[in-house]
Amino acid sequence: MTRIIDGKVISAAVKDRVKEGVAELNKKGVTVGLAVIIVGEDPASKVYVANKKKACEALGIISEEYALPENTTEEELLALIDELNNKKSINGILCQLPLPKHLNEKLIINSILPEKDVDAFHPHNVGRIMIGDYDFVPCTPAGIMEMLAFEGIEAEGKTCVVIGRSNIVGKPMGMLLLHKNGTVTICHSRTQNLKEICKGADILVAAVGKPGFVTADMVKEGAVVIDVGIHRTENGLCGDVDFEGVKDKCSAITPVPGGVGPMTIAMLMQNTLTAAKKQNKIGD
Ligand code: NAD
Repeated sequence: MTRIIDGKVISAAVKDRVKEGVAELNKKGVTVGLAVIIVGEDPASKVYVANKKKACEALGIISEEYALPENTTEEELLALIDELNNKKSINGILCQLPLPKHLNEKLIINSILPEKDVDAFHPHNVGRIMIGDYDFVPCTPAGIMEMLAFEGIEAEGKTCVVIGRSNIVGKPMGMLLLHKNGTVTICHSRTQNLKEICKGADILVAAVGKPGFVTADMVKEGAVVIDVGIHRTENGLCGDVDFEGVKDKCSAITPVPGGVGPMTIAMLMQNTLTAAKKQNKIGD
């Protein structure tokens, strides 16, 4: 029987853990605060920001939302980030991407203090992930590692294939699996023999951004398949994996919706708690 990995159950367990952690800090007189900046009117971004705010409220994390108009200048945005970098009650700062085209994304990300960079996009945090000495991991790959741990699926000694090499998902995902002693291949749009490579995977992570891209002929019998993709279609949400075609072939699979998606916000909450602990020099 194929195991359907339930992101709703696992994210709820993470959130419970975070809620307890926040309450512990509050008992010590320490609050936990997250600032979320959104520039412009992107509807999907607005939904993500609203969900982040809701999650903060449910866990006792103070959330501050900064909704800036589309025509915000780089100077104005940098000034706000500088103010939040210096604000004691704010432990984490997140700038919702994508930013409008006239803003230099790299410059903005680099201006967030690494210790408040709960998205783990700052080069300092990216470098720390590389050497395996990190406080924050980008929320989606962190959520996937949490799911594997919850399900007792070990990467050690396994052949792990990640499809996609984005800085947000594919690359950090590969590093995390490597830190867990998996043998990792990262595939991308120029990869030759993709099907053959995927067929060798014990753990296959699809972060390719194409609906139904991973089909049954690309999956090894008994593999664990993690679907990162989210696509809005006429028939509702779907992922990068042809779920119906693949599910009977693998030993475990994440569905879309209800798989990786719910984990991302839970891990953001976890990173915000970690930031508050570090900034207040409170250990685990
Ligand atoms: P991206 O577009 O930045 O990266 C896609 C990657 O896929 C690229 O590295 C590219 O080289 C690779 N690729 C494209 N075509 C390919 C092909 N034919 N063969 C092999 N590789 C190919 O996307 P991303 O930001 O990494 O996101 C990937 C997907 O995950 C998207 O659907 C996105 O919406 C979703 N996503 C979900 C969450 C979540 O919380 N569940 C979070 C982030 C992203």
